[in-house]
Amino acid sequence: MKLILLGAPGAGKGTVAKMLTAMDGSVQISTGDILRGAVKDGTELGKKAEAFMKAGDLVPDDLIMGIMEERLQQDDCKSGFLLDGFPRTIPQANELKELLTRINVELDFAVELDVPRDVILDRLTTRRTCVGCGAIYNVKSMPPKVEGVCDKCGADVVQRDDETEAAISNRLDVYNEKTAPLVDFYSKEDMLLSITATSSDVVVAAIKEKLEA
Ligand code: ADP
Repeated sequence: MKLILLGAPGAGKGTVAKMLTAMDGSVQISTGDILRGAVKDGTELGKKAEAFMKAGDLVPDDLIMGIMEERLQQDDCKSGFLLDGFPRTIPQANELKELLTRINVELDFAVELDVPRDVILDRLTTRRTCVGCGAIYNVKSMPPKVEGVCDKCGADVVQRDDETEAAISNRLDVYNEKTAPLVDFYSKEDMLLSITATSSDVVVAAIKEKLEA
């Protein structure tokens, strides 16, 4: 499958992507994970991206397109991919369309995860992330077996820098302003599956049904 996952921060894109990759060997491509990795490793990209990320602002489109142009041409993408957190702006969506045509790759569709704002706020303030493998936990509903330690890789599980209340609120505003218009964009392309659901199982079932239709 070749899908775009759209949805506000905390809508469940990452969780759904992980469930889908387990089904058919397609890869999850999270621009957020790639950028956090670059910040952690102190690369040029990381240095350029860090301040934007910490404030909950978007990283400039040209940096993101550079990452994705390279990433989408790697071999593991041939068996399918789930774009998680990209595209995030109309210019990114336009450039992605042009890039996919150029490298001769066809998307199945874009999925919008539509989750109420109160659910999102609750999820983001209680979310914890593994600094090693990016696994996602929740202090209320899915804590790691040992507090602060990842079940999967043993690295630290922490609250992200951009998961303070101020940064979360900014990320949601940025989403509404810059990313929400993509719902219309993909709807006009006749490529949108919109799902109003808070359960990842329900979301995955709806995606499967559409892929098989
Ligand atoms: P979220 O939980 O907000 O969906 P991500 O992990 O996708 O978080 O992204 C974290 C941060 O990385 C964003 O707030 C932004 O600064 C940056 N980022 C990730 N993807 C993009 C993108 N496609 N365009 C611009 N900035 C991005």
